[in-house]
Amino acid sequence: MANAFFNVPHASCEPVKPYAPGCEQREAVQALYNKMMSEQLDIPMYIGSEEVRTGNTAQITPPHDHQRVVGQYHRGGAEHAKQAIDAALGARKSWSQMPWEHRASIFLKAADLLAGPFRNRMNAATMIAQSKNIFQAEIDASCELIDFLRFNAVYLTQLYKDQPESDPGMWNRMELRPLEGFIYAITPFNFTSIAANLCSAPALMGNVIVWKPSDSQVYSAQVIVDLFKAAGLPDGVINVVYGDPVEISDVVISHKEFAGLHFTGSTHVFKHLWKQIGNNIDMYNSYPRIVGETGGKDFIVIHESAEARPAATAIIRGSFEYQGQKCSAASRVYAPNTLWAAIKDVLVTDMATVKMGDPGDFSNFINAVIHEGSFNKLASYIDRAKAASDAEILVGGNYDKSKGYFIEPTIIVTSNPYYETMEQELFGPVVTIYVYDADKFEETLKIVDETSPYALTGALFATDRYIIDSASKALENACGNYYINDKPTGAVVSQQPFGGARASGTNDKAGSAMNLMRWVSAKTIKETFVPATDYRYPFLG
Ligand code: NAD
Repeated sequence: MANAFFNVPHASCEPVKPYAPGCEQREAVQALYNKMMSEQLDIPMYIGSEEVRTGNTAQITPPHDHQRVVGQYHRGGAEHAKQAIDAALGARKSWSQMPWEHRASIFLKAADLLAGPFRNRMNAATMIAQSKNIFQAEIDASCELIDFLRFNAVYLTQLYKDQPESDPGMWNRMELRPLEGFIYAITPFNFTSIAANLCSAPALMGNVIVWKPSDSQVYSAQVIVDLFKAAGLPDGVINVVYGDPVEISDVVISHKEFAGLHFTGSTHVFKHLWKQIGNNIDMYNSYPRIVGETGGKDFIVIHESAEARPAATAIIRGSFEYQGQKCSAASRVYAPNTLWAAIKDVLVTDMATVKMGDPGDFSNFINAVIHEGSFNKLASYIDRAKAASDAEILVGGNYDKSKGYFIEPTIIVTSNPYYETMEQELFGPVVTIYVYDADKFEETLKIVDETSPYALTGALFATDRYIIDSASKALENACGNYYINDKPTGAVVSQQPFGGARASGTNDKAGSAMNLMRWVSAKTIKETFVPATDYRYPFLG
């Protein structure tokens, strides 16, 4: 250990590059995107120091061009899950005992590499794998991930510095031990930054990881692996396995040294895993930490004191950026009848200018949805809305999967606040608007609060300060991230720590000290300088 207490470098949020026409970075990303679209990657699993190629491969195809193959990855099974656990546990002693400044330094170096030489590749890989336009790739795969890496190092020192009081004659200390065992990170397709953070946050705190990325994110997961390797992360700290999630999870979650689950994905999968952990509880050395951020049915409520244009703009950006495939995306809107004509006018006029297509063409605001399963599900909701007596399509409603999985951004207007698309998570570019009687604002807030089991994000548009106050109280438990006069998406690490409640997750706020605290086990140490030598207290005298 060093004979000093170090301050990590000051962290500030990574500036978002504009990629405007003519700028050098735009041309560089575009050229790299084109190059990568014409290459073939062969992606192994990473277990300990080994690159594991099983020959059981699956093709990688961009969602916007599903006949084009950009690579393949090797899938494993139960035996690889066992090997990954062994490799993690083998690396545990050295990693957990490494002085924290060296662990932090590795991830701070990763942040600088990503801000510099890895940025274009990480963005291009995310554009290809997940069909994000350059702006969506930049705010996720570069900026958010850089922020996670830099701010988590700051939060680590805040946690370590927080020490108990000591009365005279003693020194009380607290240390934050990594959990005993290993952590299992299961990550979603939609954010490259989340995938990297779910394994790097516990690793920063001294834990070792088995990581199972989403099948739809393997291509950008490879860049994360390369980034961490380039930053000097030792072998075995983060082990990557691909394959059937049930087969892999069954092995991982029934291991006695399973110490925690760091999950982001859908609610039903998380509930299934939680039950499985509960059933296995007698097998474990310790009670596993369970951290999960899951689905949402995120809302925008507009009060009649709001201005129509900002509210309509929030609907467009909040519902359709990244094709509505953000857990925070607005998908149900409550608009007052007194403002509806003005809001509708902006929606119809502005949506007519929105372009959809390949992310390689930078003028496209909307790209493809992630895979055929998602496409088919969204198309069926749209078809039902077309046929429903209590819903109509205001904008969009078309879809085409001949080249890529393209769903036109679609606005449904319903007369039924409980219409299926007001209640269920669709996870695509479909938003439903219920026009309410402006005199029934309070009743409408109750509907907003009670309609869905989720409570992830929500937004209120109003200018009347009494309304802002009373509506905020009425919606207290309706979301974990609440926005006043802004869209409900786009949380920034260190500024709006992210997470929801109710069926949306455990609300451990990714990108905050609260999350890091879940990956440590505090140990209190009391040292007495001059120990007592007589058992008798004065009152006995
Ligand atoms: P998903 O649940 O389909 O998959 C997530 C991960 O779980 C993947 O790695 C997948 O392979 C794995 N998985 C699937 N079935 C499993 C099983 N039976 N056992 C173990 N693992 C299993 O989710 P997705 O489509 O990748 O992501 C979209 C979902 O994620 C949405 O519901 C969205 O709201 C949610 N999400 C939430 C947040 C948040 O912060 N709350 C952030 C991003 C995404």
